[in-house]
Amino acid sequence: MLLGSAIFVMCFFADLGFCQDFGYDGTIGPNFWGERYQNCGHGKLQSPIDIEETDVIVQKFPPLIFKNFDEPLESVHLKNNGHTVVVSISGGAVPSISGGPLAGTYNFSQLHFHWGKTDEEGSENLINNQSFPLELHMVMFKTDHGSFAEAANETDGLAVLSFLYIATSEDNENYEQFAEQLLLVQDVGSSVDINGFVSLDDFTTTDRNHYFTYRGSLTTPPCSEVVIWIEFKNTIKLSHNQLQEFRELSGQEGKLEHNFRPIQPLHDRVVYMNSPE
Ligand SMILES: [Zn+2]
Repeated sequence: MLLGSAIFVMCFFADLGFCQDFGYDGTIGPNFWGERYQNCGHGKLQSPIDIEETDVIVQKFPPLIFKNFDEPLESVHLKNNGHTVVVSISGGAVPSISGGPLAGTYNFSQLHFHWGKTDEEGSENLINNQSFPLELHMVMFKTDHGSFAEAANETDGLAVLSFLYIATSEDNENYEQFAEQLLLVQDVGSSVDINGFVSLDDFTTTDRNHYFTYRGSLTTPPCSEVVIWIEFKNTIKLSHNQLQEFRELSGQEGKLEHNFRPIQPLHDRVVYMNSPE
């Protein structure tokens, strides 16, 4: 337990670049994460999963309440941590979410992406065994727990708002500024500060009534089982060229062409689907 905690502390901030002992290929790939991180190998609430629409339980949750999602982000920090590109905020109104399956308010911590080598794969969660070229994870922590670090030890501590993308021929104009900045963080460890960014609404989609929700984990070590997943059905459109820019980012060893964990067993979990109708 103590050892587990120590590793947890050491590597929890993987997304901030302090933990460089995992990857997506070879002996540091997902099949080996369990050797160092018990949850990754033996947990029963692991993410991602394949969501089969015929197996979900349809439920009408209270409306999701998005706060400050319509506010342009004042100051944004963009970083390549070797595993993904992470967007955090360093000032301005903090976006938050409540309602739906969530008991309490969850504040925005950071967002990051998972992608694949081609437009045919890349998402972590699958729907009806279908993969998508890109998946956005907006990581939110429960404010009751005080801080992100505290919340990350609690079973209801984090909520991940997850959005899937589809490839189109036209560029998504809302991603133009972001795409330009991506070129500046191609090297591992590089970062850039942006003053004045689009709102989270512009960055995602405002049709968020239809979603799946289930109990799961972080999809990177230490794979802590502390996440309420909300997987939105409505996809975001990005052009092939815009998707390609993610694959140009460098990882630990050469180009970071893919960074998605394979699907994990559902075990005895239930996936719910919100149906507002
Ligand atoms: Zn993620």
